[in-house]
Amino acid sequence: MQIINPATEEIISELQETSKDELRRILDSLREGQKAWSQKSTKERLECIIRFGELIQLNVNELAKILTLETGKPLQQSLNEIKGAQNRVQHLRKNAEKWLAPETLVDSGSTHEKIVYEPLGVIANISAWNFPYNVGYNVFLYALVAGNSVLYKPSEFATLTGKQFEKYLWQAGIPENVFQCVVGDGKLGQQILEADLNGYFFTGSHGTGLRIAKTVAHKLVPVQLELGGKDPLYIMDDVSDVKQAAINAAEGAFYNNGQSCCAVERIYVSEKIHDEFVDAFVAEVKSYKIGNPTSLETFVGPLTRKQQIKFLENQVIYALNKGAILLSGGKEIEGKGYYFEPTVLTHCNHEMDLMKEESFGPIIGIQKVSSDKIALELMADTNYGLTAAVFSNDEERALHLLNQLNVGTAYWNCCDRVSPNIPWSGRNNSGVGSTLSTQGIRAFVQPKSYHLRSLPSEN
Ligand code: NDP
Repeated sequence: MQIINPATEEIISELQETSKDELRRILDSLREGQKAWSQKSTKERLECIIRFGELIQLNVNELAKILTLETGKPLQQSLNEIKGAQNRVQHLRKNAEKWLAPETLVDSGSTHEKIVYEPLGVIANISAWNFPYNVGYNVFLYALVAGNSVLYKPSEFATLTGKQFEKYLWQAGIPENVFQCVVGDGKLGQQILEADLNGYFFTGSHGTGLRIAKTVAHKLVPVQLELGGKDPLYIMDDVSDVKQAAINAAEGAFYNNGQSCCAVERIYVSEKIHDEFVDAFVAEVKSYKIGNPTSLETFVGPLTRKQQIKFLENQVIYALNKGAILLSGGKEIEGKGYYFEPTVLTHCNHEMDLMKEESFGPIIGIQKVSSDKIALELMADTNYGLTAAVFSNDEERALHLLNQLNVGTAYWNCCDRVSPNIPWSGRNNSGVGSTLSTQGIRAFVQPKSYHLRSLPSEN
């Protein structure tokens, strides 16, 4: 498999893909390794994860360079991601033993009722390329701490990073027959679905997620899907600092080139402040430094996948045909690399797929609205349900809208944000199940309920 640098289109590495026979051997060894791994205490397993976190920190510059080379993520954002994802390790350090300990619910008289949390076994972690540290950690760290072995299939666009995870997990003391990173594309993913695993944990697009759920349904094992979104942001008329709101909204839309599952994908602005907001928004976007992702000053690098360029161009053309106005960008940047101009369109409406289908790129549609009621209707007009954000000076007014939206995450005066303290989950086409928090670790265990009754003694 060739690994291509999206900034230069040069081949940076060639790797041998995992064959079907090799996959079978790996799965056998993971099954064997899991038995011993699950017998260790949570504390012992946690110690390996903490060591892994330390190794990642020690090697952060080298790892960020690899991430930038294979995905085109600007170097500063690669560093941010690697450092930011460490909060999962710290959160597990603080809580994992408590979350995984047996719980006694009834302990009265002769009857005892308790729950013991047992690992699932060998799980598959099929992952996306856009934030490989964040989305990888959300699954494999929690699964490992809970006593599972993990078959990790990174996206073909983040394979080198996946191999680094493997190297440092092994160095940290996780046995080779407990974590394995396989190399391949969707065809290998398909073989993993056909193999005998105890759970499937997927991060990726709605289309692939749906295919996975259908393919493995007959196995009756846990399937968790973290999928895409079409996340709305509404700027209310009472926002006191419109310029700051525009800066924050632009960052939410364009960070990582818009290739975030929870990127702001569409913006609604009250007509009272619309023009002021748009002016500040466009000025901010035009100030972004575009170019070589290995420069620490760059904010917008190349797209990771070449095929996304055509997709974005089509969204722009279709929106313009339906009456949108282009204020910035709109096309591919000529030359080497998969660059696309940061693009802002106003006068948008829901006849445009730009406002309905996930863009996953540096492109945003803005629509003027005349009331909270209309904004709410538009925000809810989607099959996705990942996040929604409202910017307002009035918490009660913002929550009144957010409470009515069918999303996994609601933001007031912030956006494009994930925290290890609270669950990360999507609804409808954005997926099923939760990662992070207590719920995120319970996803990797199965409860066994004990009803224990002591018999009366003879005398
Ligand atoms: P894809 O759905 O294209 O791929 C995801 C993973 O599935 C990759 O490892 C891919 O392999 C693999 N795959 C592809 N085909 C199959 C198959 N038939 N069977 C099994 N596995 C398969 O998504 P992307 O990698 O492009 O990720 C972008 C998407 O992920 C966006 O929609 C984004 O919103 C979403 N996402 C959601 C997050 C969330 O937390 N909700 C977080 C991050 C991203 P390969 O790439 O090698 O082809």
